[in-house]
Amino acid sequence: MCPVCGRFYFSPSARNVVCGECRKKAPSFLLHRSAGIYEGRLREAILLYKYGGVEYLARPLAEFASSLEEKIWDVDCIVPVPAHKKRIRERGFDHTRKLAQQLGKIKGIKVRRILERVRYTPPQAGLPRYLRLKNPGGSFTVKRKYPCNRVLLLDDVWTTGSTIKEASSVLKRAGYSVFALTLARDI
Ligand SMILES: [Zn+2]
Repeated sequence: MCPVCGRFYFSPSARNVVCGECRKKAPSFLLHRSAGIYEGRLREAILLYKYGGVEYLARPLAEFASSLEEKIWDVDCIVPVPAHKKRIRERGFDHTRKLAQQLGKIKGIKVRRILERVRYTPPQAGLPRYLRLKNPGGSFTVKRKYPCNRVLLLDDVWTTGSTIKEASSVLKRAGYSVFALTLARDI
C-alpha cells in the first residue's frame, strides 16, 4: 500500500511506493489506513450498520478495525467525522460517533468531538465518481478545542478521500497532527 494514504496495490513490486496522488500533493493527514477493502462481507456489514439500523455491528466493526497494527494508535484522542444533524435524524443515530466510542473503549483512547458538520450534503453513495469528486469545501468547522496534539480522525468508508482530506485539513489548520482511519476503502 501507499505508506501515506494507504491506497492498496495489487502488485508486490509496488510495495511501499508513495502513490501518484500523494506525490502530487501531500495530504493534510500524516497517515491514513483502511482496515479492509470495501467489498464482500465487510461492505455488507457496513451498509447494514449504516443504513439498516443494525447498531450492534458497531462493536464487531470496531474490533475489526482495532486489529490494525499501525502507528495510528499513538494518538491522544479519536475524532469521529461528524454527521449533519439532519442526517442523524434521518438515520436515527450517529454511526461514526458510535463506532468511535466502541473503538475508544477497545483501545483505551478518549473520543473528542472536535469537529462539527456545518453543511448538509446529500448521500454520495449513489452518485457517479465524477460528481462525488466535486465536493466543495466548507463542510466542517472546529466546534470545540481539546488539549490533544495527535488525533485519529475516524470515518466509515474512504470513497474518493475527499471527506477525510477536508476534515483533516480543518484539524490541521487548528494545530492538530492528524492520523486517519476508515473501516474500508474502495479500490
Ligand atoms: Zn497515497
